[in-house]
Amino acid sequence: MIDKRNFYINGHWVAPSQPNDFEVIDPSTEEPCAVISLGSEADTNAAVAAAKAALPGWMATPPAERIAMVEKLADLYQSKGEEMAQAMSAEMGAPIDMARTQQVGAGLYHLKNFIRAAKAFEFEKPLSDRAPNDRIIHEAVGVAGLITPWNWPMNQITLKVGAAAVAGCTMVLKPSEQSPLNAMIFAELVDEAGFPPGVFNLVNGDGVGVGSQLSGHPDVDMISFTGSTRAGTAISKNAADTLKKVHLELGGKGANVIFDDADEKAVKRGVLHMMNNTGQSCNAPSRMLVQKGVYDQAVETAAEVASKVTVGNAHEEGRHIGPVVNELQWNKIQDLIQKGIDEGARLVAGGTGRPDGLNKGYYVKPTVFADVNNQMTVAREEIFGPVLTIIPFETEEEAVEIANDTPYGLTNYVQTQDGDRANRMARVLRSGMVEMNGQSRSAGSPFGGMKQSGNGREGGVWGIEDFLEVKAVGGWSTN
Ligand code: NAD
Repeated sequence: MIDKRNFYINGHWVAPSQPNDFEVIDPSTEEPCAVISLGSEADTNAAVAAAKAALPGWMATPPAERIAMVEKLADLYQSKGEEMAQAMSAEMGAPIDMARTQQVGAGLYHLKNFIRAAKAFEFEKPLSDRAPNDRIIHEAVGVAGLITPWNWPMNQITLKVGAAAVAGCTMVLKPSEQSPLNAMIFAELVDEAGFPPGVFNLVNGDGVGVGSQLSGHPDVDMISFTGSTRAGTAISKNAADTLKKVHLELGGKGANVIFDDADEKAVKRGVLHMMNNTGQSCNAPSRMLVQKGVYDQAVETAAEVASKVTVGNAHEEGRHIGPVVNELQWNKIQDLIQKGIDEGARLVAGGTGRPDGLNKGYYVKPTVFADVNNQMTVAREEIFGPVLTIIPFETEEEAVEIANDTPYGLTNYVQTQDGDRANRMARVLRSGMVEMNGQSRSAGSPFGGMKQSGNGREGGVWGIEDFLEVKAVGGWSTN
């Protein structure tokens, strides 16, 4: 079994201040695959102290040098790509081919986008042509606590570390205790890249322990958090006493609005998008809203596509989906599928229990509910599993009303050949992101939500700005 008990603090791998072993479970087998330590307050304090001590030096380092350091990290990244893919496959169940491409690939993608955005960013500039003696200085927020989830682990880590590093923040990363291994490999890369000691620190731990210690710590200036709305609320409350800046990327319940004139692949695309990463994506298109004229056909297609999605061991190559992350999530998903049945939704694919032939491992049947109304539990709660709900609608106004009738507001999707209608929809849907006709957003586009999906934006220039304060100076000397 892999032994990864140490933390990365002040440029060194150090033993925890007191032993507190935690086994990482492989969801494909339900067997432990690694042992880590959960940190205690002394470990958190040591990491925060290192970040605080490194802050003046890192802030004073010219942006070009900070960017060069992130470039070094990006250059090294692929050298551990296979190791990282194997780690994520074991700890959170991403099928190995998907882990190699999507999960590992996302990390390099974000680092490169930050490098590009930071090179074009003016960290200092005059207020305007008419005010040459007014200077705007963008400077680091300070020590950042970075708390990340298990579902797209390297995606989330690079979105935070890349932005914080170019902005001049020093940081303490607490990855999810469910998926700590990829983060520790990433820390080895940071070490190899030669970041000054204390700029990046990693302490493993759980939410009530290291997570809360970071969000309440007087020397942490900002928390950047991705995870559940529940934890986001707890962090916001705990951070309030020290009035920290809190950046939140939370859950979602995205609508995928399919109009009568949608292209013929729209339904299939929507189902496969929902099933990707075994439904464990905050931006999953989990509510498929279908206009009456194509409704019956859409239900039939969705059921057929879902029943052809294969489920299997994450260590095997292939295009199947893997297990969900752990027993807790498996049980939660089973309960929600049962609720869907009990509340009268029509089950057209999948259902409760494991798929045939899989008796061990946290495997879920790709499931589709039709005839759902938006008040049912399966339409309101984020299921975070391979479960799609299909809701009928008649008019564009009704579609907008249903799509927006959710506490979340992360991503919505629209399928129509009518460009004017697509643009109208983009303006009225209450979400941080809208994607049309299967076209994803381009590199450097900001990621983030409205309402209970969070605040702030990650990625590209917006992601960097979230780690910066704006300082306004009058009387700036121009000689
Ligand atoms: P989670 O909230 O349980 O855990 C996320 C992280 O927060 C972990 O590192 C955990 O240890 C920590 N944590 C938990 N409670 C905490 C507390 N009280 N104080 C401080 N830290 C705490 O979420 P999860 O189960 O790991 O991830 C799934 C959730 O994350 C889903 O709801 C999903 O939608 C959301 N998510 C959102 C985005 C986004 O960008 N919007 C991306 C990925 C995941």
